[in-house]
Amino acid sequence: MDQSRIDALRALAVSPGSHLIDGQNVAASDGAIMDILSPIDGTVLTSLARGTVQDMETAITSARAAFEDGRWAKQPPAARRKVLLRWANLIEENALELAVLGVRDNGTEIGMALKAEPGSAAGTLRYYAEALDKVYGEIAPTQSDILGLIHKEPVGVVGAIIPWNFPMMIGAWKLGPALASGNSVVLKPAETASLSLLRMAELALEAGLPPGVLNVVTGEGRVVGEAMGLSMDVDVLVFTGSGSTGRRLLEYAARSNLKRVYLELGGKSPNIVFADAPNLEEAAKIAAAGIFRNSGQVCVAGSRLLVEASIHDEFVAAVVRAAEALRVGDPLDVNTHVGAVNSEAQLQQNLRFVETARNEGGTIVTGGDRILTETGGYYMAPTVITGVAAEATLAQQEVFGPVLGVTAFTDEHEAVRIANATIYGLAGAVWTSNLSRAHRMVRAVRTGVMHVNTYGGADGTVPLGGVGQSGNGHDKSLHALEKYTNLKTAWIKL
Ligand code: ADP
Repeated sequence: MDQSRIDALRALAVSPGSHLIDGQNVAASDGAIMDILSPIDGTVLTSLARGTVQDMETAITSARAAFEDGRWAKQPPAARRKVLLRWANLIEENALELAVLGVRDNGTEIGMALKAEPGSAAGTLRYYAEALDKVYGEIAPTQSDILGLIHKEPVGVVGAIIPWNFPMMIGAWKLGPALASGNSVVLKPAETASLSLLRMAELALEAGLPPGVLNVVTGEGRVVGEAMGLSMDVDVLVFTGSGSTGRRLLEYAARSNLKRVYLELGGKSPNIVFADAPNLEEAAKIAAAGIFRNSGQVCVAGSRLLVEASIHDEFVAAVVRAAEALRVGDPLDVNTHVGAVNSEAQLQQNLRFVETARNEGGTIVTGGDRILTETGGYYMAPTVITGVAAEATLAQQEVFGPVLGVTAFTDEHEAVRIANATIYGLAGAVWTSNLSRAHRMVRAVRTGVMHVNTYGGADGTVPLGGVGQSGNGHDKSLHALEKYTNLKTAWIKL
């Protein structure tokens, strides 16, 4: 990474943004805008269209028209593949510009943003571009005078509501399989992380995606997101975000057209360290990275550290060392390990969780505070809290911030009991040299992704999805295609 190029990009003014509907940049129907603050220093970065219900309806109408006339869905697979591959190339060619723009908007440290945002988005689009002409329908094993065919058809119009922590990465997780399957999409980025996704959508047009196939509507979740949820013309709604919004989306579906709703919600993922872990120092570093990178604003973050009692003090000391070695600061400085918290509201929520943990008997062994207030931005020190009871608020509720709660356990049985004692089930890890124990733990922990002797980094070849109140459905891998297709049976008498 070249600091001088980053600095040149950060010095550029960001033009006010608008919706992308039918291939055109359009303002809100009532002309309303909203200020976009940069978490780096709290200043106004630019403004965006504050969408109206009418804007969302116009975008959905555009997506529907694009789907029905087949301008995308009926193109030969090879032609669609070419467009998606060209789009991935354009994202890569513009990676640093996209990453810096995204960081100015959402605060993620640039090292992580570059890799996890444009880098990952391009890879995801390529994966589904390559998959789209390699996934076949089926022939059913019927009696001989019947031919039973199982077609996979696009669902039609997909609504995608995206969060602010990794907008391009998570956006691509939805856009890749949705567009590869031939659908049209209306995308609603988060209020505090729209800019890079908007730019990425513009590159799709440049790559040859026909107008109307991908529309982006900016604005408030409770206005344009709600309008998307209540639409009678959205067939499938895909979402990554908070449990409370996920709950609302299910209500919207029930109150409207019973659209299919896929939810990737939060987690309270247990990172379980046994005394026989292969390398405790390494495990501590990865445990720290697994909760503190991107200021803990990672859905699969290992936010609960469960440590075998015999190594508790030694291991916590190593995690604290690793946490204190992380440089928190300007996310556009290439030497920064942990950037800014996304918003003032999120920072305040993080601090409230720390206060509650303290009141419930936890000990703050490092961090706990807002830092770098002189910058005007939103920064928080990596925070480690020990003595967190399994039923404490910090062990039960997702913070979505750089706050690690530590709980001791005495044996495997207790580790599993504590690990499974939340409403969530998104990710987790076990650290042990005992192969049988590793496999037993993978089976026993109720979760969607279980790591062994590592944390994070699962690539696009494997599905990501939760159980329990972490949601349903899967992003990534070929399994993601299932969300964006309908099965149709043809039962043919020969
Ligand atoms: P967080 O609380 O972490 O910001 P949210 O679930 O509120 O998470 O946000 C994730 C996405 O959901 C954002 O794009 C946001 O605009 C959207 N959103 C928020 N509220 C609603 C709602 N009532 N209906 C639809 N979308 C919403």
